[in-house]
Amino acid sequence: MPTTPTLDARHLTVTGVVQGVGFRPFVHRLATRFGLTGWVRNVAGTVEIRLEGPDDQLDAFDAALRAEAPSVSRIDAVWSVDAESEGATTFTIAESEDADTLRPVPPDLAICEECERELFDAADRRYRHPFITCTNCGPRYTVIDALPYDRERTSMKAFALCPRCAAEYAAPDDRRFHAETVACPDCGPRVWFEGGGADRVAEGDSAVRMAATALRMGAVVGVRGLGGFHLAVDATNDAAVRRLRARKQRDAKPLAVMVRTLDDARAVARIDEREAAVLTSSARPIVLLTPRDGTPLASALAPGLDRIGLLLAYTPLHHLLLAAVGRPLVMTSGNLSEEPIAIGLEEGRARLRPLVDAFLMHDRDIVSRCDDSVVRIAKPHEILMRRARGYAPVPIALPVASPEPLVAVGAQLKNTFALARDGQAFVSPHIGDLDELAALEHWQEAYTRYRALFRVAPTFAVRDLHPGYLSTRVAEELGLRRVIAVQHHHAHVAAVAAEHGVTTPVVGLAFDGTGYGDDGNVWGAEALISDLSGYRRVGQMRYVPLPGGDAAAREPWRVAVGFETLAGWPSEAFGLAYYGVPTSMREGAHQQVLKGVNAPMASSLGRLFDAAAAVLGVRRHASFEGQAAMELEALAGDLPAAPLPFPTYEQDNRLHLDPVPLLQALGEGRRHGVDVALLAARFHESVVEAAVDLARLIAGSFALDTVVLSGGAFQNARLLTRIARRLAEARLRVLVPHLLGPNDGAISYGQAAVASWILSRE
Ligand code: ZN
Ligand code: ZN
Ligand code: FE
Repeated sequence: MPTTPTLDARHLTVTGVVQGVGFRPFVHRLATRFGLTGWVRNVAGTVEIRLEGPDDQLDAFDAALRAEAPSVSRIDAVWSVDAESEGATTFTIAESEDADTLRPVPPDLAICEECERELFDAADRRYRHPFITCTNCGPRYTVIDALPYDRERTSMKAFALCPRCAAEYAAPDDRRFHAETVACPDCGPRVWFEGGGADRVAEGDSAVRMAATALRMGAVVGVRGLGGFHLAVDATNDAAVRRLRARKQRDAKPLAVMVRTLDDARAVARIDEREAAVLTSSARPIVLLTPRDGTPLASALAPGLDRIGLLLAYTPLHHLLLAAVGRPLVMTSGNLSEEPIAIGLEEGRARLRPLVDAFLMHDRDIVSRCDDSVVRIAKPHEILMRRARGYAPVPIALPVASPEPLVAVGAQLKNTFALARDGQAFVSPHIGDLDELAALEHWQEAYTRYRALFRVAPTFAVRDLHPGYLSTRVAEELGLRRVIAVQHHHAHVAAVAAEHGVTTPVVGLAFDGTGYGDDGNVWGAEALISDLSGYRRVGQMRYVPLPGGDAAAREPWRVAVGFETLAGWPSEAFGLAYYGVPTSMREGAHQQVLKGVNAPMASSLGRLFDAAAAVLGVRRHASFEGQAAMELEALAGDLPAAPLPFPTYEQDNRLHLDPVPLLQALGEGRRHGVDVALLAARFHESVVEAAVDLARLIAGSFALDTVVLSGGAFQNARLLTRIARRLAEARLRVLVPHLLGPNDGAISYGQAAVASWILSRE
């Protein structure tokens, strides 16, 4: 009896970062190569593939799918089930299925190598086109209005494809097959150069050249970019950099520098392989690097610090501009001080005109605000200092799914929020400090956009314990069914444990500047026994009164007054802390402490760094929180040093670290002429030693084997690497922040993890 050869069929579901990264065209090429028929389509954040053909070819497809996936994609899982043959005769890319389930949105991707080559190839039809992209690169999150990701739901919908682009879009063997943001000089967006009066002085390539000339002459140029405006200035021109600082009202915070290529970066900084990999990744973050001696970079870029923030050009427009300028450019967020970055044409003009001499504009709308991300390598760790462009909005899994969608509103400083649904947390890009109205508006705008984009309608809100935070008010005013409060340092520890999928109790070290404690005091040097359901505070730094309250974070000398009072006022060891501070002010602060007026009690590692900087005579006034700590770290470098006394005592069933002997030893040493760099190094080692002892003692007493390191103080590479290594040597399992940074940007995710756990248990 004759048999018809039956074809096998399989149905594949691929999860991960698989939309907007050229995945469907890739699948099409692969299926064609193996002679398979069927279809591929996007279904709510996953890719579904239907394949028909001989069994061995199906297996070959399976292997190649993982081995050859586009480098910017990330396959989390492939679910494969056998199916009935439908007798398909071709392989097609089917329409997107708009289902109401999980909906990842791809992050923005830096220009790829092939597009970069075409950009500078005079024979290519996209030669010098500032909006060249393909399926492997280009804007995504910042231009997407809604899902599924198709051109008509992006800000590219305003630019109808010309016949040649349309042909490329439809050709399966073309790199621009189904590239939703494809454009060319005939049909793409435009750039122009604009003077103070919004007059278009030049367009196209001459606009780029005119901007370059202005920059070479020292002008500040507002450059409309991918996730917002940058303020650009010649990074080798000290006077120009100072002018930018003055206008931006940013007197000391480091400014990021953009160069065109990795070779250009190597000319100004020392870069190892790991750092090079991060610099050139499709996320293209700012990477903190050690500058080379004698670089032409302006000294005003990062005063007092041993690192500069460097990033590579990530859009074609950046490439054209940097090539024309021929020098590194400062590229800092287009905003005043800590305000949100400007994005709209009118908004940019209105807000930035007082800061710039001219604008380099384009007419492709920016749908979502997104700052540059910041990364630091502290081998073997990669510290995410700011998670934004290139990372957000990739979801992060929660160890326990919330039974209902929720929003975690995050912390006061370095705010992000998180929407949680179906076991995934969608953490917003960095928003900024929630202490002014502009930031609050940005928060609400981003929240509204995120809710629509991911179709999450929260029924629960999660907030910090602090009754006075703006974020607390925001959470209460959302009018949701219930608001859950999570303590700041519990959220820090939970965030790190949760991203590692750990739900069992851990020893959590939470070291940062400020968080509201459940006793109403300021916390920030805490040892918790913590799991997602709650925490017990088993260790802390000895409380110190902070005269002036919040003002103390900007005035390290005030912190020194608090510690000196504990040491026994007056104490000679603290003498250097007040140089240039009027005696009356110092006395006034001392009186505040004695009378307990506006002198909250604090257990804070950030404030200990401030006091140490003051006592060492390094810094008595700071222009931003954390400045003193960054300078101490820079001073210490990797100088080997022995710890100074930083004893522990027990009180109220809790271990207390007493920093007073440490500060006295530092002050004495400095007064006796010991090198300040060595003392800074000894200070670091003292903190390392104390932290390791504390964690080991607690782990031993409670039979725990895992230690979590969390909080902004772990942005300090020396603390992070030394404490992690020493704990690992003591055979403890050490969890460090990875997907989210150590700082308050991770709080929203930690809040979401805790609340999801609580709600799932009720
Ligand atoms: Zn490309
Ligand atoms: Zn075109
Ligand atoms: Fe914090």
